[in-house]
Amino acid sequence: MKFRLHFVVDPMGWFCVSAVFSVWLYNTVFIPMLVLFPHYREGHIPWALVVCYFLASLFCVTALLRSSTADPGRLPQDPHIPHSEREHWELCNKCNLMRPKRSHHCSRCGHCVRRMDHHCPWINNCVGEDNHWLFLQLCFYTQVLSLFTLALDFCQYYYFQPLANLRQEEFTGHHELALLRVSSFMGLVMFGGMGSLFYTQLTGILSDTTTIEKMAYFKNEVVPSRRPWQQTLAEVFGTRWKLLWFLPFRSRRPLGGAFHPHVHV
Ligand SMILES: [Zn+2]
Ligand SMILES: [Zn+2]
Repeated sequence: MKFRLHFVVDPMGWFCVSAVFSVWLYNTVFIPMLVLFPHYREGHIPWALVVCYFLASLFCVTALLRSSTADPGRLPQDPHIPHSEREHWELCNKCNLMRPKRSHHCSRCGHCVRRMDHHCPWINNCVGEDNHWLFLQLCFYTQVLSLFTLALDFCQYYYFQPLANLRQEEFTGHHELALLRVSSFMGLVMFGGMGSLFYTQLTGILSDTTTIEKMAYFKNEVVPSRRPWQQTLAEVFGTRWKLLWFLPFRSRRPLGGAFHPHVHV
């Protein structure tokens, strides 16, 4: 398995990634300290719930780190273009390199990206052919973690039995209500934002239209692709095994057909 790391030098992007990472860190530190560990110690919740929370958190941060450091589909300096595919290639007038059609030149990253969807400042990276699957996983697991956090915030406030050994003198005990309110606010914002993004991404993939193409042609209506949705998603995730679509700890290999000069992330 070979991973190629890809970093975009953009202070604004670093700021945005740090903001998303801080939201994840806040909920991964304070929700267990405030809700999970105290209620587990007093026997109000099973250990499986604590493990599930940390698993959701691990999947979410892995998808974030990998989507922001993965090569989105950069073209090589001197690609070998098979003769039969020459008509599907064109010259980029910005970097003066040959690229397959449907590639796009990203001015933030300074190079062309195969089947570029958009440049996302929140991961400080382009979303292209090679990391689109990781971006979808990020949207999905952020929704899962936000929903989990919101449910625990709600239960802590309205449902769980009061703690017998509440440590009022500790920081979390002293500021419990404020910490829960901040967590709920972030959960609502992340769930709403990522939910709409996930829906837009899925409809784009299933209609075989990138965000850039939608904006260029004002194609807001969803035209379903003639291919089955399983095949379309299998190509995005690089495997037909549906269980693997949910795993961010693996490398992606294209299913064949298109031109792929590198080992993929
Ligand atoms: Zn270019
Ligand atoms: Zn970019």
